[in-house]
Amino acid sequence: CGQCANVCPTHAIKERQDFMQAKDAMRQGKKTVFITSPSVRVAIGEEFGMEPGSYVEEKMVAALRALGADYVFDTTFAADLTIMEEASELIDRIQNNKPLPQFTSCCPAWVKFVETYYPSYIPNISTSKSPISMFAPTIKTYFAKKEGLDPRDIYIVAITPCTAKKFEILREEFHDASDYHEMEAFQDCDLVVTTRELGNWLKAENIVFDELEDSNYDTLMPRGSGAGIIFGNTGGVMEAALRSAYYFITGNEPGDDLLKLEVVRGMNGVKEASLEINGIPLRVAVVHGTDNARAFIDHMETSGTHYDFVEVMTCRGGCIGGGGQPLHPGEDMDVIREKRIQALYDKDASITLRNSHDNPQIKQIYEEFFDAPLSPLAEKLLHTSYHERKDLNENPDVYRRDYQKVSK
Ligand code: SF4
Repeated sequence: CGQCANVCPTHAIKERQDFMQAKDAMRQGKKTVFITSPSVRVAIGEEFGMEPGSYVEEKMVAALRALGADYVFDTTFAADLTIMEEASELIDRIQNNKPLPQFTSCCPAWVKFVETYYPSYIPNISTSKSPISMFAPTIKTYFAKKEGLDPRDIYIVAITPCTAKKFEILREEFHDASDYHEMEAFQDCDLVVTTRELGNWLKAENIVFDELEDSNYDTLMPRGSGAGIIFGNTGGVMEAALRSAYYFITGNEPGDDLLKLEVVRGMNGVKEASLEINGIPLRVAVVHGTDNARAFIDHMETSGTHYDFVEVMTCRGGCIGGGGQPLHPGEDMDVIREKRIQALYDKDASITLRNSHDNPQIKQIYEEFFDAPLSPLAEKLLHTSYHERKDLNENPDVYRRDYQKVSK
């Protein structure tokens, strides 16, 4: 990722600037659709001298329109879709004695880590795809039909904090839109551009970010709930999923305790909680950082502790600390991470739509297209499978870490 490029003494490693590919697609007349991850809006301002954690969603959308976007959608909408599927999958696993714990799957670096070093846990990874990888085939099927577009003419650019997503979109399984249309295979998501790359692109085009007039997302799949917004924080996916799991199990809206689930918030490397929903006991854990993930798995195996649901993000702090986020050499990155985290929590707390299952456009897309979570079409477009990677896993013991040292 670009972080290596910033410390390479000989400049042998160069940071990628993949936005040139998007410019090529625009020149070819493709309909360019930008989708923006939650963590970008609290970090892109830093590329232009703003305070870390500045919430600049409308300026970011305006910047993408200035770059030539035909459509701009919010990946938080797809985060809501992910929660609908992942929470339903969790309930299905619990009720039907399927493998537990369910591990989250929205971090491609974590998924590849399991495929490489812990393949026996592949059945535990949620089959629900990440928000980006749910959104892309949804755009090239549901949206393409609505707009009367040929999906081959749509070029999707995901703006993310994540360098690992550059790998994820190339996974050979992610050709679901072309399978749906029975066309020759094409990628669901065409390109990933990181927050830093976006900053470089805007500077190369002489776009003055802070002078842009605010703009809003396009209206068909306009935005996500607060649950979708906090996806960028460590613990955010867990909190979002438990809000909807509670609703699915009880039929009631989650109360204040679940709308601010303090035990899964904060920068501890491993956070654990025990809950009970309608008599169903749930033991959950939230882990960030690969060292912590190794230590957690060791702890789970040696202690024999049963967990139902475990969120793992490989970047410290979650996606707000992703490898493609703005860098601040010489500064305390944890202070910066915490400002970004707080900005997302503040946004969640400030809006009335807090839960994925309450999002009216999410209800609409199930009514018009997917039918229901875990339906055959949802399984086809929104779920996937994983496979063992044999190349790097000869001696995983060399990476093991002490759980006691990292669970704080
Ligand atoms: Fe990407 Fe890091 Fe987020 Fe994982 S935690 S999805 S590697 S930004």
